[in-house]
Amino acid sequence: MELYKQQKIKVYNSLTNSKEDFIPLNEGYVGMYVCGPTVYSNVHLGNVRTFLSFDLIFRYLKHLGYKVRYVRNITDAGHLENDADEGEDRISKKARLEELEPMEVVQQYTVDFHKVLDEFNLLPPSIEPTATGHIIEQINIIKEILNKGLAYEINGSVYFDVLKYNEKEHYGILSGRNIEDAIHNTRELDGQSEKRNPQDFALWKKAQPEHIMRWPSPWSDGFPGWHLECTAMSTKYLGEQFDIHGGGMDLKFPHHECEIAQAKSCYEVSPVKYWLHGNMLILNGRKMAKSTGNYILPLEIISGNNTILSKPFPATVARFFMLQAHYRSVLDFSSDALEGAEKGYYRLMSAVGSLQNINAGSQSSFDVTVWRQSCYDAMNDDFNSPVLIAQLFEGVKYVNQLLENKASLTEEDLAIFKETFNAFVFDVLGLVDVTSKDNSDKLGKVVEMLIDMRNEARANKNWALSDKIRDKLAAVGVQLKDGKEGTTFSVN
Ligand code: AMP
Ligand code: ZN
Repeated sequence: MELYKQQKIKVYNSLTNSKEDFIPLNEGYVGMYVCGPTVYSNVHLGNVRTFLSFDLIFRYLKHLGYKVRYVRNITDAGHLENDADEGEDRISKKARLEELEPMEVVQQYTVDFHKVLDEFNLLPPSIEPTATGHIIEQINIIKEILNKGLAYEINGSVYFDVLKYNEKEHYGILSGRNIEDAIHNTRELDGQSEKRNPQDFALWKKAQPEHIMRWPSPWSDGFPGWHLECTAMSTKYLGEQFDIHGGGMDLKFPHHECEIAQAKSCYEVSPVKYWLHGNMLILNGRKMAKSTGNYILPLEIISGNNTILSKPFPATVARFFMLQAHYRSVLDFSSDALEGAEKGYYRLMSAVGSLQNINAGSQSSFDVTVWRQSCYDAMNDDFNSPVLIAQLFEGVKYVNQLLENKASLTEEDLAIFKETFNAFVFDVLGLVDVTSKDNSDKLGKVVEMLIDMRNEARANKNWALSDKIRDKLAAVGVQLKDGKEGTTFSVN
């Protein structure tokens, strides 16, 4: 029987501000959409934290046996400088400054994004669509919203009519705002604006002559509004209604609010069952952000090339550090915090390593299944990774007792114990054992040294020594193979 039939998850739904039973629209299947990066610069560690939170969720759902379709987009057009409807396209601006084609900028930072997520051992999503690859779908949604009378065209641009929408629906349902307050708090239109109301947002913008990222449409040569791409790509691949939509807290308003308004207007259903929002990574008491210069790049952590940390740290240690906080809590980044996480990480890895060498006893002195369920309970409670990690450290205590022969487990229980440890540490938390990599690097160097010594022996026609080296290595499972290019080895 699939695990998801036994393990019942509760998720915190930002739409209702409460924890709810997680019941997917189609049993056994989960559709999840997460807003991806705008690829105009390197992702910082804060961005990685948000994607990591959803990687944890993706991994756990898969572990439970759900068939998950995880869609995470790449924003490669339409995201203007100030998150609103004015200013230059972020990608065009970078292209102009660096004297590149916009698509060169997109390529460069998409590659960087993938490299970073790979270093941090995030699984690739099932589909990674781009905004520029879905212009037709976006145009079709605009047509439909115009048909419904919930948008208007002016001077080649199309705007969503928030006030009209709000007559029947609640614009602000997700962010808890109401339109009357918004009207009260927004500055007057400056006379330059074409919008009927400041709350309205662009679905399509006519391109100014200098704007190079442009596509034909029934209204003008132009480009889609930023919020529209996510509606187009999520519903194209997951259907008009899907289970989970995620992103950072800072996207709740206006981005996700606008997504709801667009999808409801177009398809007449609320698009998302569970809205999940990850909290911010903080540096020096402020949100980590590229725009303020208050950030650290993920690869700078690994290289040590930064002014914040005392030394370099492996990516998996930074990953462990971030998983020590619940995804809905703010998390402070500092050198001390990372050093603390490093100690915990090595303690965990050392226990996982020694666990493999423990032998079964004739009876069990603790209840493995109770401990295992406590690990599931942690993750079932809105993916509470810090509580899961605390449970794993309870497990580490057992490992130490087993090592010191102060406890024992039957063969069956020992198998459950090992399997649970491996599943949660590697499959669900996605940690990587760099201690074994360190050791395999060292082993490689030692074997290379012995190959050199054997070559010396052969050069001196000392066949006895050369054979001895080969045979002794073979006895510990290292096979030498002499070829034209020299001697290579393999480890059994
Ligand atoms: P962007 O490329 O700016 O759209 O951001 C990509 C993702 O990173 C979004 O989901 C943001 O909410 C998220 N994000 C941005 N800054 C932070 C931060 N300091 N901590 C956590 N997530 C962040
Ligand atoms: Zn989005």
